[in-house]
Amino acid sequence: VEIGAVTLAIIDAIRDMIDRDVDELGRLDAIAGDGDHGIGMQRGARAGAAAARAAVDAGAGAGTVLCRAGDAWADKAGGTSGALWGAALRAAGERLGDEIRPEAGDVAEAVDAARAAIQGYGKASVGDKTMVDALVPFAEGLTARVAAGTPLAQAWVAAAADATSAAEATSALLPRMGRARPHMEKSLGTPDPGAISLARAMTVAGLVLA
Ligand code: ADP
Ligand code: MG
Ligand code: MG
Repeated sequence: VEIGAVTLAIIDAIRDMIDRDVDELGRLDAIAGDGDHGIGMQRGARAGAAAARAAVDAGAGAGTVLCRAGDAWADKAGGTSGALWGAALRAAGERLGDEIRPEAGDVAEAVDAARAAIQGYGKASVGDKTMVDALVPFAEGLTARVAAGTPLAQAWVAAAADATSAAEATSALLPRMGRARPHMEKSLGTPDPGAISLARAMTVAGLVLA
């Protein structure tokens, strides 16, 4: 299968996951934030998937598909997470490029470029109770496994499991960034919505790759 089409299938799978979980993500965000994480992610993922489809139909490679999806996502999602997801997809697309057969190491580097973009724009570190708490273990887990010679799909699925545990573990943290920060005490005992959606996105992406 062509890599541009695989990229589209991943973005479609993320959109389908958000369509399924939109209400739950909204409820999580309503506990200490403003309750719009589900609807914002849904607007972003739907726009991103439509832009990715148009790019694939026009013959674009994976890098271009990711850049177009990211621009549409940031444009339509609104909110902090939409801007960060858009920047992350664009950074990954720029790093991956339109090469037809990227190596697993190129994919890991593209994921790390997405991580760097999110931390560069959002300035959050691990422990601040944001999506970064799921993204950093995902990027590090993928990079380490790929470097050790694990095939991409297997490395991705294992790294997504790391991200899921890390997202769940944000329940015990107090938020230090974003809209949840002024409502710290309400957030205790609930995981960060952006970390949960990111871990689920990487999980469904892994199902496409496997
Ligand atoms: P908003 O907070 O603008 O309403 P969303 O509800 O869509 O946007 O997204 C909230 C999520 O965004 C949080 O759960 C957190 O994971 C993430 N987030 C907020 N601020 C930052 C930041 N500075 N860096 C990384 N992620 C952040
Ligand atoms: Mg919100
Ligand atoms: Mg908002």
